[in-house]
Amino acid sequence: MTNKTQTHILGYPRVGSQRELKFAQEKYWRGESSQEELKQVGRLLRHRHWGDQVGAGLDCVSVGDFAWYDHVLGTSMLLGHLPARHRSGFPDLDTLFRVARGKAPSGCACAASDMTKWFNTNYHYIVPEFSADDAFNVSWPQLFEEVAEAKKAGHEVKPVLLGPVSYLWLGKEKEAGFDRLSLLPRLLTAYQQILTKLAKLGVEWVQIDEPALALELPVQWLDAYKLAYQVLHGKPKLLLTTYFDTITHNLDRITGLKVDGLHIDLATAPEQLEPVLAALPSSWVLSAGVINGRNVWRADLSAWLKRLSSVKADLGERLWVASSCSLLHSPIDLDLETELDPEVRQWLAFAKQKCREVTLLAKALDGNEAALSEIEQYSAPIKARATSERVNNPQVRQRLAAITDSLAERKLPYQERARLQRSALGLPLLPTTTIGSFPQTGEIRTQRRDFKAGRLAENDYVTAMQEHIADAIERQNKLGLDVLVHGEPERNDMVEYFAELLEGFAVTRFGWVQSYGSRCVKPAVIVSDIYRSAPMTVEWAKYAQSLTDKHVKGMLTGPVTILGWTFPREDLTREEIANQIALALRDEVADLQNNGINIIQIDEPAIREGLPLKASQWQSYLDWAVRAFKISAASAEPETQIHTHMCYSEFNDIIKSVAALDADVITIETSRSDMELLKAFEAFDYPNEVGPGVYDIHSPNIPDVEQIIQLVEKAKNLVPAERLWVNPDCGLKTRNWQETEAALANMVEAAKQLREQW
Ligand code: GLN
Ligand code: ZN
Repeated sequence: MTNKTQTHILGYPRVGSQRELKFAQEKYWRGESSQEELKQVGRLLRHRHWGDQVGAGLDCVSVGDFAWYDHVLGTSMLLGHLPARHRSGFPDLDTLFRVARGKAPSGCACAASDMTKWFNTNYHYIVPEFSADDAFNVSWPQLFEEVAEAKKAGHEVKPVLLGPVSYLWLGKEKEAGFDRLSLLPRLLTAYQQILTKLAKLGVEWVQIDEPALALELPVQWLDAYKLAYQVLHGKPKLLLTTYFDTITHNLDRITGLKVDGLHIDLATAPEQLEPVLAALPSSWVLSAGVINGRNVWRADLSAWLKRLSSVKADLGERLWVASSCSLLHSPIDLDLETELDPEVRQWLAFAKQKCREVTLLAKALDGNEAALSEIEQYSAPIKARATSERVNNPQVRQRLAAITDSLAERKLPYQERARLQRSALGLPLLPTTTIGSFPQTGEIRTQRRDFKAGRLAENDYVTAMQEHIADAIERQNKLGLDVLVHGEPERNDMVEYFAELLEGFAVTRFGWVQSYGSRCVKPAVIVSDIYRSAPMTVEWAKYAQSLTDKHVKGMLTGPVTILGWTFPREDLTREEIANQIALALRDEVADLQNNGINIIQIDEPAIREGLPLKASQWQSYLDWAVRAFKISAASAEPETQIHTHMCYSEFNDIIKSVAALDADVITIETSRSDMELLKAFEAFDYPNEVGPGVYDIHSPNIPDVEQIIQLVEKAKNLVPAERLWVNPDCGLKTRNWQETEAALANMVEAAKQLREQW
């Protein structure tokens, strides 16, 4: 028997370092390639990714982490469990795409399933739909074929399955009076079949993901785990994987489950190591998830080596070393970032590099001399970073330390501000406005790209953008909107734009991470203390304002959203980082105001998604998130109107904090919910002004005047007319001008008619 530390990762990014999967899928959806060509790209990527894992020296490759659109949908396919409207014929790849997108090159169009966020990440999964008479039929061969494929390539294979209880938990009931948990026995039979098949294929270990164990689950759901693993126990052996947070609150129950090992996320919750060790059954392996799968930082391997040495001594070969969660949430290959500042680069590790970290640490734990010295070298840059002057800016720290609660407060309470703003701004009843962006035409994108690449001189670029701004102002004036925007032509993305202008961020070229389906995002990295070296939006706003007598809204992205959609540094708390951003934005608000901008919108679409996994921790998060927003807004004089904007999100359970933002006006995405979302505002007696979106900007359909009137009338039953605004759901950058103008003309007309009536 060897004493070797086993190494693995929980999953590898599937899109490919050049986003090959994205492009192949989109090509297939457009009807420009065959299913066989698409499948070939999938095969190539899987082989490449297994190669990366083997090349790094991992003991096994993850199989089943690949997905054509989403791995939860892949699990539904594997289980032969699809929405009734998608059940015709034998399920194949087009079935999968129809569930995900409502359409595919073959077969009929039926409504897609809902999509929602995967725990507290920015990845979105397709929500399984459950009904009382659902059956599970293991039929789709993808997983088994992949296992065979990897075996054939000579790899040691560890299949990855989403566990049955988490699978049920992540779905939703499609009929009233039925509890999806009642499907568990039937579901377990299907899982048994899958496991039996895998055993027959010669699989020794299966990674069974039960991330729901990190949540605060109702007791009947916790009980379900017991039954589930009683039934599934046997061959292959099961490694129960948990991630994204600590599981110590459920530890008693977990250690009673019939599995063969446990994986815990020590990157997110390092403090759970000792309690878990103390409770670990003597026959179990412990997979220590120390390499952070959802951030881009090099691990301090020397620190982990110290911490895990005694664990290794105790557990021997029962200790495995792993990534904290699937590397799905991390960019793929740092080697491609040739333009990144070399100092910053040596602080980072992407998926490919993280595989190496896992094996390097394991080798060092096993006493390998070369690894021991390599670890010291490897960890040196991040150790040096801790005291680097480049990272730690004394002025920023001083300002951060001087934050008091009063810094977050406007000079006057809302009622008094509203009175002053009414006379200063002179807006009509039901003011009309938009959320910020206007159509990002091909011309705009080309000009921005050319400027970035140095093909367009700065002067010419500024002139070009000013022309787009002037065009947008003219169109808005013609439409008769009350509060105008400059249209955001200069912004590629609402976060990256600020990340590029603020000090403290690094922007990568290929750091793509899957968000949903073929969509990827490229979050910036917060590498050091954040500050503003110069005004960021003032010139554009000033220019727009100079063209019109109407008010132009200044447009900023809020601190919580900038934080939420970037890779944060790990040596500061999220609160500290948010406050640094807030201080920078606070100065921007002051500058906009001093330059004649009387209305300033600070977008915070990501507040809700930053909520911690455990409900008991929500309030403390909301408290600092709200405070950060308020710090950025509170440099506004009482006469300056602060707006905020939030996208599709439930408000019922966070309305108190939304009100605590104390924005003078909040615009929200509501039209698809038929104003349902506004009920939370009524129930709470929300005191400030609200602009519930009156049409869905995701759809090319033009809302007619009557539709909009009906929605605003509905809204009036929930929020008094004096405090209502009329606006679309969100920014218009994905629409074209024709749709935009037609829709806004109807919106303005609806407001006009209502003003006359009311
Ligand atoms: N101001 C941004 C825009 O209009 C807001 C985008 C968003 O809420 N996601 O595009
Ligand atoms: Zn929005």
